[in-house]
Amino acid sequence: MSKTGQTKVAETAIAMALRPTTSRCLFCDGELSNVFVDLGMSPLCESFLPESELNKMEPFYPLVVYVCPKCWLVQLEKFVSPAEIFTEYAYFSSYSDSWVEHGRNYTEMVIDRFGLTTDSHVVELASNDGYLLQHFVSRGVPVLGVEPAANVAKAAEEKNVPTLVEFFGKECATKLVAEGKAADLIIGNNVLAQVPGINDFVGGIAILLKQGGVVTIEFPHLLRLMAENQFDTIYHEHFSYFSFLSSTAIFKAHGLRLFDVEELPTHGGSLRIYACHDEDSTLPTTERARELLAREEAEGFRDLGRYGAFQEQVDATKRGILEFLIQARREGKSVAGYGAPGKGNTLLNYCGIRTDFIEYTVDRNPYKHGRYLPGTHIPIFAPDRIAETKPDYLFILPWNLKDEIMKQNAFIREWGGQFVVPIPELRVYP
Ligand SMILES: [Zn+2]
Repeated sequence: MSKTGQTKVAETAIAMALRPTTSRCLFCDGELSNVFVDLGMSPLCESFLPESELNKMEPFYPLVVYVCPKCWLVQLEKFVSPAEIFTEYAYFSSYSDSWVEHGRNYTEMVIDRFGLTTDSHVVELASNDGYLLQHFVSRGVPVLGVEPAANVAKAAEEKNVPTLVEFFGKECATKLVAEGKAADLIIGNNVLAQVPGINDFVGGIAILLKQGGVVTIEFPHLLRLMAENQFDTIYHEHFSYFSFLSSTAIFKAHGLRLFDVEELPTHGGSLRIYACHDEDSTLPTTERARELLAREEAEGFRDLGRYGAFQEQVDATKRGILEFLIQARREGKSVAGYGAPGKGNTLLNYCGIRTDFIEYTVDRNPYKHGRYLPGTHIPIFAPDRIAETKPDYLFILPWNLKDEIMKQNAFIREWGGQFVVPIPELRVYP
């Protein structure tokens, strides 16, 4: 490193919060002490409470995110066991129309681009309720889902999507290859962030992938999280937050090359990375992969100071949200929530928003009806509740689905109801 480079890193390291931990980097085992953002104490965001548990003690864990100055992986300090999180997972992908549509478009594209046939084998890691693999099944392409949450795996089987209830890693991959189930295409959507043993997981992908096979993985893009104040996408179930730069290094360490990348609008801005075996010359690295890497470097993704500036952005977003809610309640306006996604729970807990600001929320997933949001104890009802109570504002927690939600609930305008979207900056839609 040049002398000026050293000085720059030293100065920015002082400017950002330091908090030594005993944890090591999930990928490179480097020391974690540089705080990216501290969101205080928060409960597990998918532990929706039944009424019988409201007067019991509720576990809260620190929600502190670090950046590794060696490999630039942004990550939580590890302390919650994945078994505790995933045995009864409440998120059913099929409850979002736009997500099912996303799956259908992806299937058409990938079958066409990589020439998948009835002789191919497609494996999806964290296949959820089969929302995606069902489209391959209807095209006659053999599939296997791997899904650790038994209740959602059962829903997949009902869609004729064969599903193995297991955590994926090297051991699982080795077993599948021995059974003749190596993959031409491996899909992992919104799972990489939730994997505590990232080297075991990506190492497993390298084992399971046939020569000439392709991997596509989607995850929220750190660049967009930072640019658009998406701090609420940080929660205990998401251990890592990836840039193209850090994911390239992780896959490379396991003999996989990211030969292409797409920037998608899903989840507030995601990447779809395409990987192959490093030596596969049939899949040359594309110009857009090289361009994104260069863009992230130009953005300062190898500079600690760039990461350290995020906390102030988050605090300013919180103040904006609270200012709106305080004003609305002062004016005697009623505010109802829409949705009960994980991200909503981070936002509400970090901002300290309870039933004093948001009376109730609604969700399309019947699993959540009659339950309460973790930490804030805001009750969750079926969507009918909106028409019954006619709130002045509908506060949209899954802001990434705001267009779909505003269309489905356009009827609130009949009584002068308005939509509120908190991220990237609070905005009211009359
Ligand atoms: Zn690292």
